[in-house]
Amino acid sequence: MHTDGYPGRMKRFPPKGPGFPRRRPCIPAPDPLICPTMLTRPGAHPLDTRAGDPRPHAVVIGSGFGGLAAAVRLGAKGYRVSVLERLDQPGGRACVHRQDGFTFDAGPTIVTAPQLFEDLWRLCGREMSDDIDLRRVDPFYRIIFHDGAHFDRHAKPEALRAEVARLAPADLAGFDRFMARSAAICELGFEQLGHVPFMSLGDLARHAPALLRLGGHHSVYGLVSRFVKDERLRIALSFHPLFVGGNPFDTTAVYCLISHLEGRWGVHFAMGGTGALVTGIVDLIKGQGGEICLGAEVTEILVEEGAARGVRLASGETLNADIVVSNADSAFTYRELIPAAHRRRWTNRRLEKARYSMSLFVWYFGTRRKYEDVDHHTIILGPRYKGLVGDIFRSRPLAEDMSLYLHRPTATDPSLAPPGCDAFYVLSPVPHLDADIDWADRAEPYRQAIERRLAETVLPGLAGEIISSRVTTPVDFQDRYCSYKGAAFSLAPTLTQSAWFRPNNRSEDIRGLYLVGAGTQPGAGLPGVLSSARILDSLVPEAAALVRG
Ligand SMILES: Cc1cc2nc3c(=O)[nH]c(=O)nc-3n(C[C@H](O)[C@H](O)[C@H](O)COP(=O)(O)OP(=O)(O)OC[C@H]3O[C@@H](n4cnc5c(N)ncnc54)[C@H](O)[C@@H]3O)c2cc1C
Repeated sequence: MHTDGYPGRMKRFPPKGPGFPRRRPCIPAPDPLICPTMLTRPGAHPLDTRAGDPRPHAVVIGSGFGGLAAAVRLGAKGYRVSVLERLDQPGGRACVHRQDGFTFDAGPTIVTAPQLFEDLWRLCGREMSDDIDLRRVDPFYRIIFHDGAHFDRHAKPEALRAEVARLAPADLAGFDRFMARSAAICELGFEQLGHVPFMSLGDLARHAPALLRLGGHHSVYGLVSRFVKDERLRIALSFHPLFVGGNPFDTTAVYCLISHLEGRWGVHFAMGGTGALVTGIVDLIKGQGGEICLGAEVTEILVEEGAARGVRLASGETLNADIVVSNADSAFTYRELIPAAHRRRWTNRRLEKARYSMSLFVWYFGTRRKYEDVDHHTIILGPRYKGLVGDIFRSRPLAEDMSLYLHRPTATDPSLAPPGCDAFYVLSPVPHLDADIDWADRAEPYRQAIERRLAETVLPGLAGEIISSRVTTPVDFQDRYCSYKGAAFSLAPTLTQSAWFRPNNRSEDIRGLYLVGAGTQPGAGLPGVLSSARILDSLVPEAAALVRG
């Protein structure tokens, strides 16, 4: 049994402190797709000397979905692309933990707006369905309220309306009106503007009136409450910001678009796990002649005369580039990779004052038996909603009456566990590292509290069934993913940290530097980070337009 983070064998975390984690050593690249060598002596990196390739060179820092999608799009624009990833596998938060015969996706599993993935395959002249078996999940998820009632989010509108009528009959008309509003917000906020860069206040001013007319100045919960009265239905229609790092009580109501988005294109799961999507995109990059270098940690973006010229690696090597794209956390990129002298907008002070998403406590576990009654996606709510998210976002002490999201991928793909077994992960939103929580001491008691909660609700007898286990805490989000304050979703998606107010996809301070991923526009979540890469289409010049010295 893998005991990392399991009873009695807690991993000791480094002491909490200001700033960023100590640097980890480069991890040797184990995979054949990896660029061959990482020299240890200072000097030029071997990729710099790839003789005979006349294409302008784009360096992408980080291989999260934002970075991988950017790499495909830059390859399609004619760039020679090198993706530099400090970890020993690609995918970022979407990496995969394989242990004890189980396959645990570390992060995203709910695939919405699959067309954003399909676009990447089409850019390479291929069809995603040739490589990826994407299955619809229906119902999308079950919400179990603290009073024992439940709500199934069905895919078909009529089944969904019947579910609303069962739970809160008096709210059916209000629900219909809310879904119409959600559709209108989705049309504007996602379909029309989701891939549009907000590069100036003028861009924002042009679109703000329409967004305000649709209620964008309200919070998600505030807008939902104008349509429905039943508190349980309000929760069911307003919790979505938590999936992108936002507090439903202060995230802009533009995120009400998710209610429509999930119904419009469905909720999907990639057979083999989300890791199959990562591998599929990595293969696209290879097919374009791009490279993924694992164990390649960037320590500095090299800036000359206001323009990004390349990167320095932890090994001391440098790598020249015509353009640099950072998929590392935006706060990390600006604070740690670019000397302060080159930054006017994203100063350390501004980044420190910004508001960050909550973090997550994630427990991955495998059971020796199957729990056939448990859906693929289940949300188990505690007694408090506003009070609990308030505690989390105000960095108060760890609450014991947690709410949980339980993922059972083996409900759709049994191959992710040994025969007769189930793979799970359960995540609990928790404060980021500003809170005074010593995770080295608190992780195991918190895991046990979650285990008890699951045993009381949907997984009876759980303690005796576990045969594989590991945990991820906010400290891991800081140390493993270089996420400022250990936030799971980077900057919080408040109104004043959205669109132009969020770090732009083309750096405001440095020419030739671009940003993709959760901490840039439009925001976190798979549709968000894939859209951030799509925005590059309109910001990055065609490779042919670059004149090389
Ligand atoms: C547990 C969890 C569950 C989630 N579930 C869902 C879901 O079901 N559906 C959904 O849509 N979204 C979900 N999300 C959100 C979604 O996963 C993220 O918003 C998204 O994957 C982030 O992608 P990214 O492009 O920002 O890159 P990240 O995944 O953050 O990757 C950034 C990469 O950059 C690398 N890096 C950082 N610094 C350096 C450096 N100096 N040098 C080299 N490399 C560096 C990191 O190692 C990392 O690999 C979930 C998130 C979490 C944490």
